[in-house]
Amino acid sequence: MIAQLFSLFFPRLCAVCGKSLIFCEKLLCLGCLSDLPRSGFWAREENPVTTLFDDWKEVAITHACAYLCYTKESAYHPLLHRLKYKGEPQIGQELGRWFGSELIQSTIYQNIDIIVPVPLHPKKERKRGYNQSFVIAEGIAEVTGWCVESGALKRIRHTATQTLLNREERQKNITGAFALAAPERIQEKHILLIDDVLTTGATLQACAAELCKASGCKIYIATIAYIE
Ligand SMILES: [Zn+2]
Repeated sequence: MIAQLFSLFFPRLCAVCGKSLIFCEKLLCLGCLSDLPRSGFWAREENPVTTLFDDWKEVAITHACAYLCYTKESAYHPLLHRLKYKGEPQIGQELGRWFGSELIQSTIYQNIDIIVPVPLHPKKERKRGYNQSFVIAEGIAEVTGWCVESGALKRIRHTATQTLLNREERQKNITGAFALAAPERIQEKHILLIDDVLTTGATLQACAAELCKASGCKIYIATIAYIE
């Protein structure tokens, strides 16, 4: 009763079309949920994201995928913007849960042991209040049972925003930004490295290069969005 009264005064709205949500809907209305641009990449040995990491040729990535695949103009893109810049970590958790329920059914991802979110610099995390990759990882962990290992990798250098940089500039900008902090926690493990959006892959490549310094680990990459 209280919840119904509350929703009368503060209606929960679909994050894509703005319609009022009914009680069973979370974040999106059923229409926008069924139109979600899911990529299906997690079930394909080869996909545009694996191709992107193959091109880097520096670190061997076992598999890579993204949950959503869309263009910048997509009505779904503002979701990621709100997660990152508008203080709405619950968006990351929900997307993580949806993504996790796909990953757990993929034969390619059956051997994952731990999830490592791309770390933010502590200063940036304090300012934002949370790490968006960590909340996505939490959502995935909730439905898959995989553990989140957020202490293995550290961001040791604050980097300028990558948004306006090209591929070479991004790689230069990110070099030396991460350090492996606890190799004993990830040795011999199958690691799922998580980030929110994939553009050039420079950040994830730099993280994977550090994780690979621990012996015997295999790296898988998963991001929420891949922008075509
Ligand atoms: Zn909607």
